[in-house]
Amino acid sequence: MKAIRFHEHGGREVLRYESVPDPAPRQTEVLLRVKAVALNHLDVWLRTGLPGMTVPLPKIGGCDIAGEVAAVGSLCSRIAVGQRILVSPGISCGQCAACLRGADNLCRAFKVIGGYAMDGGCADFVCVPEVNCIPVPDSLDYQGAAAVPVTFVTAWNMLVHQARVAAGEDVLVMGAGSGVGTAAVQVAKLFGARVIAVAGTEEKLAKAKALGADEEINYARQDLGQEIRRLTGKRGADVVFEHVGGATWQTLIPNIASGGRLVTCGASAGYEGSVDIRYLFSKSISILGAFLGTKADMLTVVGHLARGRLRPVIDRTLPLAECAEGHRLLEERAVFGKVVLLP
Ligand SMILES: [Zn+2]
Repeated sequence: MKAIRFHEHGGREVLRYESVPDPAPRQTEVLLRVKAVALNHLDVWLRTGLPGMTVPLPKIGGCDIAGEVAAVGSLCSRIAVGQRILVSPGISCGQCAACLRGADNLCRAFKVIGGYAMDGGCADFVCVPEVNCIPVPDSLDYQGAAAVPVTFVTAWNMLVHQARVAAGEDVLVMGAGSGVGTAAVQVAKLFGARVIAVAGTEEKLAKAKALGADEEINYARQDLGQEIRRLTGKRGADVVFEHVGGATWQTLIPNIASGGRLVTCGASAGYEGSVDIRYLFSKSISILGAFLGTKADMLTVVGHLARGRLRPVIDRTLPLAECAEGHRLLEERAVFGKVVLLP
């Protein structure tokens, strides 16, 4: 089969479209003919390499996978050949206390399909455990299905479980044009919040408004802190949905309302954020982190998608062979929603 692989870390030029051996499913695995695979910042980090993280090379990335079942292992009983599947990206042991209380994303053995330890779906075929296979609702095509898993399960975990967003609250969504940002705008609206979208271009803000955002801040030409205070009557945001990191935290922390929460799932602009601790105790502010979400969350999210209460946002599709162009678009933040590759 053909796949996008890299044999060394580096720039986009290390991504090679090449022939690789066909994968064969183990007894509890399903072989998927990949129909669509969406890119995430994780794909960029895997390619460039991160200090302290060892990635087995050569590597096939891609953790947002949708495909058709081509074969099933002998112990599979629920999934059948020909079914349309989207893949829940997290793999856990299924036996530890975290797994057994449903917090499988907190399992110490947690791995991501297409993450550091496992090859992913930037290929014609991929093998995944049957337990990770979720039938695609009729209302979604393969591209839409591939655009869902990582961004929606993460946004759901962040807003619903970590920040416990409530109706009427002001939710500030940083990077509202990113994949996870477009999911956050919709999840926050689903729970009756007032959404303030933050992005760097008027075009992205107009699209965020069309998705349901109530207010917009253009950080490229407006003062972020001043605008948050203006839009919240000097109170600050109840929830800050964050994945950018870096110097922005210095502006965000003082502009969170008393009892407010900052919840983060990323640091695409810098790993260090500075916090004036006085704001945390004097205003009872919480800082929360989230890594993906649980398999149960994934099923809940797919239910909302099936009923049209949430919808995937796709910036564009590209042939799998043009994966490097997809990486460029992500690195330059030149997208609104997901870039989806088609094998
Ligand atoms: Zn476990």
